[in-house]
Amino acid sequence: MKFTLLKTCPITGARAGILETAHGIIETPVFMPVATKGSVRGVPWETIENLGAEIVLGNTYHLHIRPGEKFIESVGGLQKWSGWQGPYLTDSGGYQVFSFARRGKAKITDKGVTFKDDLAGNTHHIGPTESMNIQKSLGADIVMAFDHCPSGDATREDVDLAVERTFDWAKQCMEVELKSHQNLFLIVQGGRYEDLRERSLEQLISLDSPGYALGGVSVGETREEVDKVVKAHAKFLPKHKPRYLMGVGTPRDLTVGISSGIDMFDCVLPTRLSRHGSFYGETNKVVSVTQKSFTENSEQPLVPGCECTTCKRFSRAYLKHLFLRSELTVYHYLSVHNFHTLIQLTKRMRKAILEDRFPQFCVEANLVF
Ligand SMILES: [Zn+2]
Repeated sequence: MKFTLLKTCPITGARAGILETAHGIIETPVFMPVATKGSVRGVPWETIENLGAEIVLGNTYHLHIRPGEKFIESVGGLQKWSGWQGPYLTDSGGYQVFSFARRGKAKITDKGVTFKDDLAGNTHHIGPTESMNIQKSLGADIVMAFDHCPSGDATREDVDLAVERTFDWAKQCMEVELKSHQNLFLIVQGGRYEDLRERSLEQLISLDSPGYALGGVSVGETREEVDKVVKAHAKFLPKHKPRYLMGVGTPRDLTVGISSGIDMFDCVLPTRLSRHGSFYGETNKVVSVTQKSFTENSEQPLVPGCECTTCKRFSRAYLKHLFLRSELTVYHYLSVHNFHTLIQLTKRMRKAILEDRFPQFCVEANLVF
């Protein structure tokens, strides 16, 4: 993997770069659609390609439980199995197993997390070495370190422990030899405690991995706390390596992240919103397709002027009708608009960075950074 930094905005620190992987080139900053089980919910790969996505994210936990990494490896790895030929990133599985622990359904020790699979009833253990071996079999281009991700309201003591564990586990992750095309990203922890974040940052940078992520910034913290962490710490991540902000990706969060020097984002919101009949409206605020002002004769598209295939073809009234009648196609159409909004916003910001007009672009587009 090769990361080339093309331009940095001297006022904000926003960056534009190119990330070359074995399965394709990614122009950064980039928004990554989430393909939890090896598919983006309700949106076929052809559409994901047409929307301009350059990399997708698969969830290690889900793929490990079903169909299992050994099976996926036996049929040629994630790309071959799922049919997405471009780059993949897999998370470590940590986020899911720690959320089990928060609900009292898993046990955390220095070795990792032990939990029960609700469906089959089997007991599983995932620690740093297990996570690396699973991700090695899955074969994604970018694999994430197994980190200890405490909840947003964890005590200082708990967060301190999570930072030390994350460091220990990062070292164990680095000991596992991955496939030649794979690259490990380490995840900075420390919650809302500035000194702990700084310590985590220093510890992980000393390990010199191919990329870094800011973790633990969307597990219950307030928006202000997340902004503060991103603005304060992104700039200290290694300059010539890709920087990833995990699980964050509303239009507003993308603006804050990109203007703070983050290169990669992922978020489940585009498809989750559509399942609730919601979409990114004219001012990038979330709007419900069922709202009263969308009357039966409303011929307007979701967002006037939007170039997505949904807005070019359908009226608000028609989409509202589909949603109220539970017609499955509506989830697809709304997802297309939501992905288009985030992917095109990211691409427009990239262009503005390359053309030395990023702060001006944000002001004109009414984006606060
Ligand atoms: Zn649209």
